[in-house]
Amino acid sequence: MSRRDTKKINIGGRVIGGGSPVLIQSMCNTKTEDIRGTAAQILRLEQAGCDIIRVAVPTMEAALALREIKKEIHIPLVADIHFDYRLAIAAIENGADKIRINPGNIGSRERVKAVVDKAREYGVPIRVGVNSGSLEKQLLEKYGGVTVEGLVESALDKTALIEELGYDNLVISIKSSDVMMCIKAHEMIAEKTSYPLHIGITEAGTVNAGNIKSSVGLGIMLYQGSGIPSGFPSPGDPVEEIKTAKLILGALGLRKGGVEVVSCPTCGRTSIDLIGLANQVETMAAEFDDLDIKVAVMGCAVNGPGRPGRPTWVLQAARARGF
Ligand code: SF4
Repeated sequence: MSRRDTKKINIGGRVIGGGSPVLIQSMCNTKTEDIRGTAAQILRLEQAGCDIIRVAVPTMEAALALREIKKEIHIPLVADIHFDYRLAIAAIENGADKIRINPGNIGSRERVKAVVDKAREYGVPIRVGVNSGSLEKQLLEKYGGVTVEGLVESALDKTALIEELGYDNLVISIKSSDVMMCIKAHEMIAEKTSYPLHIGITEAGTVNAGNIKSSVGLGIMLYQGSGIPSGFPSPGDPVEEIKTAKLILGALGLRKGGVEVVSCPTCGRTSIDLIGLANQVETMAAEFDDLDIKVAVMGCAVNGPGRPGRPTWVLQAARARGF
C-alpha cells in the first residue's frame, strides 16, 4: 500500500498519512517530571527540525507535567505509556496530542476501553506500538520465536481490539532491532492495513551503528512508501537523531530545503584541512533552513567552479586563503 492510500491522522495539528509529508519524531531522554529540562530539550529539538516529540510517562507526576511542558513548546507532544492505564488517561487529560501504548501490557479489556474512551473524548490518536522484545508468549510459541508474521499478527490483533471498542484514530508501529525483520514486517503490514505506520529501528546500538542501521532500514522503508513519521533512535543527544533523519529524508528527496554540504573524499592533491573546513561549513549551514542550495567544499580546482553539475557554491582551497 502506498503512503497516499493510508488514513490521515491529525496529531496536534500535524497530519500524517494519506500522502502528507513525512514528519520527524524524536523522543526526549530527560526525566519528564523535570519540566524545565524536558521543555529545554524539546526547544532544542524544535530548532533542529523535529516535528513531533514523544516523552516517557512512567509516573503520575510525569503525566501531570505534560500540561506545563506544553505551555513552553510549539510542536505536538506524544505520551509514551506502559502498564498503567491511569497514566494514559491522565496524559490525555493533561494535553497529550497522541498517546503510545501497547494494549497488551495495559491489562484487561475494561482498562483498554477506559483509555480508548478518553482518547475518543479528546480526539487524541493512539499509536499501537509493537516491539520485537515484548511479543506475546503465544505468538512466540506459534511462530517459534520472534518472526515477521508474529510481529504483524500482534499489531493487527491489538488494532482490532481498539476497533472493536469503536475507535479508529490510530497509528501503528512495529519495531525491531533486526533491520531486515523490520523491513519485511512493514512490507507485510502495509498490505493489510490502511493506518499510517510510524517507522523506526529500535535498540539500534551505538551512535555509529544506530545511524547506519537507521539509514539502511528507514531508507528502504521510506523508499517503499510503507512508513510515515520516523524515529531514529540512537543513544546520546536526540538532536543528533534529527540531523540523521533530515539527511535521510533529504537523500530520498522526501524533504526539500536547507543547505546540503558535500565535500570531496580528499586525495594527494588536497592541500587544506578539508574535513575541518567541511565540518565548519556544515555547522554554519545548519542555520539556513530557509535556503535550498548545495555547498561543495573541494580540496582543489579539479572538480571546481564551472564544471558541469557543480553545486551552487563551491568552496575550494582558495577558501583557506580568505575567500
Ligand atoms: S577535488 Fe581535488 S583534492 Fe578533492 S579528491 Fe578530487 S582531485 Fe582530490
